[in-house]
Amino acid sequence: MSRKEIGVQRTLVDATKLAHRIDELAREVDSWYPTETPILVGVLNGAALFMTELMQALSIPVTVDFMAVSSYGSSTESSGVVQILKDLSTSIEGQDVLVVEDIVDSGLTLQYLLDVLARRNPRSIRVVALLRKEKPGAIEVPVDLVGFEIPDEFVIGFGLDYAGRYRNLPYIGVLAPEAIMAG
Ligand code: 5GP
Repeated sequence: MSRKEIGVQRTLVDATKLAHRIDELAREVDSWYPTETPILVGVLNGAALFMTELMQALSIPVTVDFMAVSSYGSSTESSGVVQILKDLSTSIEGQDVLVVEDIVDSGLTLQYLLDVLARRNPRSIRVVALLRKEKPGAIEVPVDLVGFEIPDEFVIGFGLDYAGRYRNLPYIGVLAPEAIMAG
């Protein structure tokens, strides 16, 4: 075990499964845009690794931009308050937007983001999320494509953090309860 893995309880989705599924997602996304050049909007920081893998696996031309929204800070529960920390650098008016999300939990972040983006008059908006939690009571937010449906546990790795750490794990793991800081 390497130092970066301390605090990981177990692997939920290994690197091989991730690579294989991202390839499948890319084929589906390819089929949505037979003639268009969509703009991929990555949601920082969590979707950074998914974005880089997905965009390379696509066979269509794309442009890329990023937004950063507030996440949980150092907590493992959503505060329900979403803030734009970094906005897009380009206009999306009249464009085909593909939102690339790391994980949909309560759905609040995505709902907020879709609202903000829709007001900028894109031609279309679609969403691909690497992970979606099976969470009773989550908001019904439209996600066109999901990589993996996962149990309602706090996950880390492949871009996802806990208190800023673990993003550089090459797999999705579950955080050990004893690694969660009190408070
Ligand atoms: P939602 O607004 O859907 O509850 O949460 C979405 C955001 O919360 C994600 O983009 C991600 O930043 C963060 N998040 C939700 N669940 C998890 C999780 O299990 N692990 C980590 N590391 N972040 C999560």
